[in-house]
Amino acid sequence: MVDKVEKIWMDGQLVDWDAAQVHVLSHTLHYGLGAFEGIRCYEREDGRSAVFRLREHVERLFESALIATIPMRWSQDEVVQACLETVRVNKLKECYLRPLVFLGDGAMGLFGRGNATRLTIAAWKWGAYLGDEGIDKGIRCKISSYSRPGINSVMSKAKVVGNYVNSILAKREVVDAGYQEAIMLDPQGYVAEGSGENIFIVKHGQIITPPLSGAILGGITRDTVIQLCAELKLPVVERQISRDELYVAKEIFLTGTAAEVTPVREIDDRTIGAGARGPLTKQIQDRFFALVRGKEVAHPEWFSFV
Ligand code: PMP
Repeated sequence: MVDKVEKIWMDGQLVDWDAAQVHVLSHTLHYGLGAFEGIRCYEREDGRSAVFRLREHVERLFESALIATIPMRWSQDEVVQACLETVRVNKLKECYLRPLVFLGDGAMGLFGRGNATRLTIAAWKWGAYLGDEGIDKGIRCKISSYSRPGINSVMSKAKVVGNYVNSILAKREVVDAGYQEAIMLDPQGYVAEGSGENIFIVKHGQIITPPLSGAILGGITRDTVIQLCAELKLPVVERQISRDELYVAKEIFLTGTAAEVTPVREIDDRTIGAGARGPLTKQIQDRFFALVRGKEVAHPEWFSFV
């Protein structure tokens, strides 16, 4: 259950948590045309709080809306300020932020051009998405029988609400079978991503991740990790990965705002590497957490202080 906080930002106003309600004929509720973001705010070593890569997340929200043909009624700056205000007013030191753009009620039917664009921003405390133990020891994954739709069926660069039906089916399938996360292949059978994370593998000392031209989201954590790896002199190669390359990888990890950097210790009941968090994964994870928690001061452009 989400821990309730005081206020939710709704169409320009802070309203009480329980008052943040919508009409049942809201267009997005029926047809899934909406866009959202997931953003984290971390408490830093010095006690201050900062939202990680807020501007990039807001930019992606606007890109998602553009791809989804949803007109925006606010500027990116206004949304950035609204996110910061939502953290501040709820007195949260650390939280997850969820901006959601959706179409309100009015007309029914698919077209829905005249329905107003609505925007809500909620914040709540959210620990490690795949568990603290997952972060330390790695998780067990299974390749889902559901593939990611082709790049011209679903717009994978947009975090569109309806796109997530595919992810939810995959997640439920593998969690019901006793695993923690689903790995999804593209229609050609190449590795795409997790249900809500990007994927990296390590083989022969090389770090490899699928390219952005494929059916994957352009993850902001993926981009962060690629930059941190370059700084650690561990260049990342972007190329297609086959299913069997996963089985023989020395290390695998997933990246995402919710999942942060989570090692994978098993895929399809095959042990990956030594069956524990690998050394390069640990190095990247340590650097990531040191950065977001302000233990190492670097990349000031990535932090928006609350
Ligand atoms: N892929 C999908 C399908 C996702 O939903 C997410 C989470 N937003 C990611 C990858 C990771 O993206 P990010 O690092 O920007 O959170």
